Amino acid sequence: MRTLLAGIAAGLMATAAPVLAQTTIIHADGIVTDASEPVKGRVTVTVTDGRIVSVEDGWQGVPDGAEMIHLEGKTLVPGLIDLHTHLSGDPSGEFWRAATTPPEWSVLVAAKNAHITAKAGFTTVRDVGSRTDQVMQMLGRATEQGMLPGPRVVTSGRTIAIVGGHGDINGFRREVNDSLGTSFSCTGPVECAERVREASKYGADLIKITATGGVLSQQGRGLEAHFTDAEMRSIVTTAESLGLKVAAHAHGARGIEAAARAGVHTIEHGTYLDEAAAKAMRENGTTLVPTLMAFEGIKDNLGTGFYTPVVEDKIRAVSEYAGTIVERARRWNVNVAFGTDAGVFPHGENAGEFALLKANGMSDRDALASATTGAAQILGMEGEIGRIAPGYSADIIAVEGNPLEDVTVLEDVDWVMVRGRVIE
Ligand SMILES: [Zn+2]
Repeated sequence: MRTLLAGIAAGLMATAAPVLAQTTIIHADGIVTDASEPVKGRVTVTVTDGRIVSVEDGWQGVPDGAEMIHLEGKTLVPGLIDLHTHLSGDPSGEFWRAATTPPEWSVLVAAKNAHITAKAGFTTVRDVGSRTDQVMQMLGRATEQGMLPGPRVVTSGRTIAIVGGHGDINGFRREVNDSLGTSFSCTGPVECAERVREASKYGADLIKITATGGVLSQQGRGLEAHFTDAEMRSIVTTAESLGLKVAAHAHGARGIEAAARAGVHTIEHGTYLDEAAAKAMRENGTTLVPTLMAFEGIKDNLGTGFYTPVVEDKIRAVSEYAGTIVERARRWNVNVAFGTDAGVFPHGENAGEFALLKANGMSDRDALASATTGAAQILGMEGEIGRIAPGYSADIIAVEGNPLEDVTVLEDVDWVMVRGRVIE
């Protein structure tokens, strides 16, 4: 008996020994550690338990028990950040599917798109609007645990809109609208504050509002300001009291201006940005997330019957302004950060935004910064993501070529690691 107990004790001792840290050694032929630094040559990056522990010149040896990843001919770049996605949806002109598709479908669509998005080099997304309550929070949990391959997810959950506005359910008869029960709209400062607290209660990482009308919804009330100033101020102060930032979808110039003055942190789209709206953004430290890919994506289906007439009219109205949004923002010194509106166009094509930013006069270096250090700052995660440096999360991609000379090389990403896990 005595020896048996001793044996069991010895067995317990063996299993209680500290679990060895998992270390990965990455060799590559070049590295951009930070969009503000020049590209460097041969490098060894050591990753332990999901974190970067060292970045050394040359190809260093591989310690016993470490995993080796050899990326000859490739340049390592910080994982990309898209500040505007809708992973739980795919492009569709069939708004009525809201009445026929159960929420379970959105979960599967989100899982599929998470993988596609990570494969494209986007290791963090800020997902700003899904139809069901917690699909994106749960997706974020699954990718964090490594249960599903995908990016880190920062999400607003659902979008807060005015009654009948962009983001509310529109286009159905009353009984159908009522039975869908997925509206997240509000009227007046008190009710709008309540929606913000509700979003927070169910795990939102930020608040998304539709400050103006929107293009792809069935609402036909224009693209200008929809919330009152008092409602927007209530939303922003309530969000800030909970430690949350506010992202405001806005097309019309007066809607952009009002949202910036109310203190929202980012303006999404910014289509009709004018000098007065830009001044309001500058004075309030508001950043523009231009989503140029969305405008490209929706133009492709014009005149094909893909969209309803009310949507088709709005697309024609915004199309002529889309090509100059970033040019105007830059002219008036508005800060720009990277976001695409993936979901309006097919997921995985996010990096197409880089060429459009360049066409608007942005340098390769500034475009890369907008999707790395700049976007990390918007998320308040500048000490965690956006750079390849000791202490940072191991969110790393590999490409051929130098993105500081031609940022469009990021359209073709060869290898991706999110939180130390390679995306197969
Ligand atoms: Zn969007």
